[in-house]
Amino acid sequence: MQERLEQIKKQLHSEQFKLTPQREATLRVLLENEESHLSAEEIFMLVKQKSPDIGLATVYRTLDLLCDLKIIEKLNFGDGVARYEFRTDDHPHHHHHLICLKCGSLSEIEDMLDDLEERVERDHKFKIVDHRVSFLGYCENCQSEAE
Ligand SMILES: [Zn+2]
Ligand SMILES: [Zn+2]
Ligand SMILES: [Zn+2]
Repeated sequence: MQERLEQIKKQLHSEQFKLTPQREATLRVLLENEESHLSAEEIFMLVKQKSPDIGLATVYRTLDLLCDLKIIEKLNFGDGVARYEFRTDDHPHHHHHLICLKCGSLSEIEDMLDDLEERVERDHKFKIVDHRVSFLGYCENCQSEAE
């Protein structure tokens, strides 16, 4: 984790930004909860435990900055809550999300859309640069409850 932090620090410096203690605290929370797709409020609550003086606006500004620098990505699952996760360098996203409409649980599946992209490009002569897909439905737990 220290290594990732150093890497991001370098990236910030190369874009003329400093890794302030507030930014570092926010990044640490993001790194510690990498799998969690935290919302800004959740990130704020966790950062506040470590740095009680930090304000929500500072956390928001840090998240915006990290998004601008393409270090993290803002995800919108249509529930009105923005969530954040780290971006992978080689491909804008390696995975897609399954979102349960009942309990709100979120899981990841690998990207299986390369073939589909090829077909769309071929059939519609459309050059695809990105796609956004979320799968909405009911997780295993919620399915059995409904029965
Ligand atoms: Zn569920
Ligand atoms: Zn994810
Ligand atoms: Zn994809």
